[in-house]
Amino acid sequence: MTDADFTQPVYHESDADRRHITDKTVAVLGYGSQGHAHAQNLADSGVDVVVGLREDSSSRSAAEADGLRVTTPTEAASEADVVSVLVPDTVQPAVFEDIEPELDAGDTLQFAHGFNVHYGQIEPPEDVDVTMIAPKAPGHLVRRNYQADEGTPALLAVYQNATGTARQEALAYGDAIGCARAGIVETTFREETETDLFGEQAVLCGGIAELTKMGYETLVDAGYSPEMAYFECMNEIKLIVDLMYEGGLAAMWNSVSDTAEYGGLTRGERVVDESVRENMEEVLDEVQNGTFATEWVAENQAGRPSYRQRRKAEQNHDIEDVGERLRDLFAWAEETETAETDRET
Ligand code: NAD
Ligand code: MG
Ligand code: MG
Ligand code: MG
Ligand code: MG
Repeated sequence: MTDADFTQPVYHESDADRRHITDKTVAVLGYGSQGHAHAQNLADSGVDVVVGLREDSSSRSAAEADGLRVTTPTEAASEADVVSVLVPDTVQPAVFEDIEPELDAGDTLQFAHGFNVHYGQIEPPEDVDVTMIAPKAPGHLVRRNYQADEGTPALLAVYQNATGTARQEALAYGDAIGCARAGIVETTFREETETDLFGEQAVLCGGIAELTKMGYETLVDAGYSPEMAYFECMNEIKLIVDLMYEGGLAAMWNSVSDTAEYGGLTRGERVVDESVRENMEEVLDEVQNGTFATEWVAENQAGRPSYRQRRKAEQNHDIEDVGERLRDLFAWAEETETAETDRET
């Protein structure tokens, strides 16, 4: 497959001109999953980096131990030409209020996810560039791949090009954190944000959790043991997903039995039927028309009452008790798998 087979531009190391970032000071705000990886990779690539953290942030000692210069978000933004906003999405509007006065004409505001800009929670001044470099992996992989001379694929988007060089600078930043080694795919803030939200709601997080619980409940309600229901509907998901990750649906269908393949091909579309498509379209509508964003912003402003309640109900589901007991039996296998706690999506 060549790049010409993709519908979007794909950039590689040879497309990037590092001088667009090596002659600048980059403020990395936040030192969590993405922040620690971007800051260290940029610094190792010879970029002048300053990490911006609150005075009382528990991440300060970690950043300093990694050899980075640390100051407050406001100070960092004032020094920097490029401000990489890598604090949690729900915190970004408040942090933006603090740093906005420090942005000079021609500076760059850079994001790793488009939610706040796309839904108007952050309204950048017109004279700054607004870009996105969003690695398609949690930060520990972005760091680990960089150190192994490998790359992590990323998305690039330009929301506002005040200087005329926003794209080249974002590409240089993506290259400096190691992503151009793998490939940087161009998208827009709108597309990145809406597909990310839809994916996590309908398929990755929401969809798979409900499918798992419903399968488990169906077996248990029919009198089967919770242990068997857990194995069949939760534990084995990993084996199936690993195959899909490595070789698509074909790799999965090839490696299950013919009985599983025939049963899956004939019954799967009855379980996830056209009514599910309609539900997905409704969920996508709410993402597109801003209903979801408005709801989530209001939920945060109210102190997350519904979020807390739903989270608690989920933790109290029977499948979690059974799972905890059974996973203890597999502790030897789990130790290496759960050593990394970074989250995707
Ligand atoms: P995170 O939750 O891992 O870390 C955030 C860091 O921000 C904390 O470690 C802390 O240093 C700092 N912080 C927290 N609260 C703060 C506050 N009130 N004021 C100032 N600083 C504060 O965040 P993350 O997952 O790295 O996400 C950062 C951005 O990257 C988000 O826009 C997210 O959508 C995006 N993103 C994340 C991933 C991922 O895998 N985690 C992948 C792609 C994009
Ligand atoms: Mg500045
Ligand atoms: Mg089976
Ligand atoms: Mg995602
Ligand atoms: Mg997401």
